[in-house]
Amino acid sequence: MGGRLLLFPLPFQGHINPMLQLASILYSKGFNITIIHTFCNSPNKSNYPHFAFEAISEETLTASPTMQGSVTNVVLLNKVCFDPFRDCVKRLLSNASADEPILCLITDALLYFTQAVADLLMLPRLVLRTSSLSAFHVLRLHPVLLQKGYLSEGLDSHSDAPVPEAQPLKVKDISRTYKIEGEDLAEIISGMVMGIKASSGIIWNTFVELEQPVLNTIQQNFPIPSFTIGPFHKYFTASASSLLEQDRTAISWLDMQAPLSVLYVSFGSVAAIDKSEFFEMAWGLANSKQKFLWVVRPGVIRGSEWLEPFPPGLQEAVSERGHIIKWAPQQEVLAHPATACFWSHCGWNSTLESVCEGVPMICSPSFGDQPTNARCVETVWKVGLVLENGFEREEIERAIRRVMIDQEGKEMKMRMSCLKEKVNLCLMEGGSSYKSLEDLVSFILSF
Ligand code: UDP
Repeated sequence: MGGRLLLFPLPFQGHINPMLQLASILYSKGFNITIIHTFCNSPNKSNYPHFAFEAISEETLTASPTMQGSVTNVVLLNKVCFDPFRDCVKRLLSNASADEPILCLITDALLYFTQAVADLLMLPRLVLRTSSLSAFHVLRLHPVLLQKGYLSEGLDSHSDAPVPEAQPLKVKDISRTYKIEGEDLAEIISGMVMGIKASSGIIWNTFVELEQPVLNTIQQNFPIPSFTIGPFHKYFTASASSLLEQDRTAISWLDMQAPLSVLYVSFGSVAAIDKSEFFEMAWGLANSKQKFLWVVRPGVIRGSEWLEPFPPGLQEAVSERGHIIKWAPQQEVLAHPATACFWSHCGWNSTLESVCEGVPMICSPSFGDQPTNARCVETVWKVGLVLENGFEREEIERAIRRVMIDQEGKEMKMRMSCLKEKVNLCLMEGGSSYKSLEDLVSFILSF
C-alpha cells in the first residue's frame, strides 16, 4: 500500500501500550511505521523489528533514566519537546521518498504541542486519546464544574450527592478527578481540547457498544471524524511494550488454583498509596479468606522501596493465601481460568482488559480518568463496585466477598460476560470496530 505514519506516544506505560498496539494494527493494514520517542521510557525496539524508531532529545530530562507519569511531567514534555520534535519531523519529511510519502502524524492527545508542529509543517495530525470516551467527556467539563462550584474549597469532598452535569459521578469523584496539582491540570485539559479541535480526527481505544451515548455527545462537540476501533489489545497484546519485567510466576501460581477462585490486585504504573492504606489492604485481603495475586509495584507505597513496611504477623497472614509480585503479565492473568475478580485503580487499559476477559471489578480510583471509569463499571455497566471509603479493611473484606461469593457478584459476572461477547462481535467482520478501522484506513489514505 505504501505510505508511512509517524507515531509519537506519551512516554508513560498506560499511553505507550495503546500507541504501540495502534502502530501494530496500522502496520497490519499495510502502512509503514516510524515511532518517535523520548529517551526516557523508550520502547523496546527489539520487539518491533518491522518499525523504524527515532529518538528525540529533551534537554532537561535526559539526566533521568526513568520518568514517572505525572501532570507536571506532561506539562514539561509539552514545553521541552517542541524544538526536537519539530526538527525530527522536518528531517523525516525532507528524507521521505516519493514512493513512500509520510501521510500523517498520530500523537497522544496529551502531547497537544504537536498540533502546532503539524500546522507548521502542513502535515495532518490524528490524535490518539487513550482514556474512555466517558472520562474524556468529564475531563472536558472542567470549566463548567469549576464555575458551578464543584471544585471550591468549602465543598464536602466526601459527599455522595450526584453531579447532574457529569453523570454518573458523585460530588466526591469530582475532587478526585481533578485533584492533581490544580493549575497544571487545567492547562493540560485546555491544551488537549484545543489540540483535538484543531486536529484532523481522533482515534479512541474503545468500542461503540460500550459508550454509545457519550460518543454521540462528543461527536456533537467535536465535529471531526472519530474512530472507535478498540479494544486495541485484542489485536496485539501489551506485553511487547511493557517497561517492567513481567513475573511469570504469576501464571504458574494461578495454574495451581481452582477455577474462578483468585482475586487479582493491581493499581497500574502510576497510582501510589500510603503505608496505612497498604496495611488496610493487606488486612482486608487476609481477612477475606480468598486467594489473591497481588502486584505490589516498587514505589507504589509512598516512602518505601518495596515490601519493607509489612509489620510482623501481617506478612504471614498474607502469604498463607496470596502470591505477591512486582509486575504481572496482566492480560494473561485476567484471561486465566482461575481469575475471578480484579481489584483495580481503574486505569482505562486495565478496565478494558478486564471487560475483554469478562472479569468483574472492585474499584479504587485515584485521580484523572479513574473515578469516571470506576463509576461506569459500577453504575452504567453494573459489573463491579467502588470502595466508597478509600481503604478500610472491613469494607475491603465485605467487597471481596460480595463480588467473589455473593449472588450479586454472580450477576456482575453475567453482565461482564455479555460485554465480553460484545467485544468479540465488534471486532468480527462487519462489527463496529472492524468497520471503524476500515474507515480509518481509508481516511488516512485520503491525505
Ligand atoms: N500492567 C502490566 N502488569 C502489571 C500492571 C499493569 O502489564 O502488573 C499493564 C496493564 O496490562 C495495562 C497497563 O500496564 O496495559 C496499565 O495501564 P492503565 O491504563 O490501566 O493504568 P496506568 O498505569 O496508566 O495508571
